[in-house]
Amino acid sequence: MTDRVEKLRDLDVFIYHGKVDIPDTYSAGTVGSRFLIEIRDNKRIMGTRCPACKRVYVPARSVCKDCFGRMDEWVEVGDKGTLLTYTVVHVPTSVQLKEPPVAYGIVQLDGADTGLVHLLGEVDPDQLQVGMKMQAVFAEERVGSILDIKYFKPAA
Ligand SMILES: [Zn+2]
Repeated sequence: MTDRVEKLRDLDVFIYHGKVDIPDTYSAGTVGSRFLIEIRDNKRIMGTRCPACKRVYVPARSVCKDCFGRMDEWVEVGDKGTLLTYTVVHVPTSVQLKEPPVAYGIVQLDGADTGLVHLLGEVDPDQLQVGMKMQAVFAEERVGSILDIKYFKPAA
């Protein structure tokens, strides 16, 4: 243990509970924007393929994380995929979009080499299993948000 941490042990620590409202706005960038526009306008999920390692990224990104190569090739992937992992949140928090239990998963869409983190729906959390086939459910009204995919449900 460092001396600094050891010194903190002897201090009385006050904890103040508060809430900070931090509005934020950010650009999805050109690649992120196209990814979201394809979902909004065409209910089509697109990825980008690395010219060197051929990995297809979903969500689309501009640079391969392994090769650092620029990726300009867009490929359509399926709206179905495989559940790689998941978690179920049972505690309500201010950032949850719905009441618990809330299931989140990482779905590797057919044709993609990476996973997409998203909400899972229309499924009893106790029935979730790694490896099960999932299918995107698109929102009726799409606005250019990742929530234009409402969630992934078990594929029929
Ligand atoms: Zn690559």
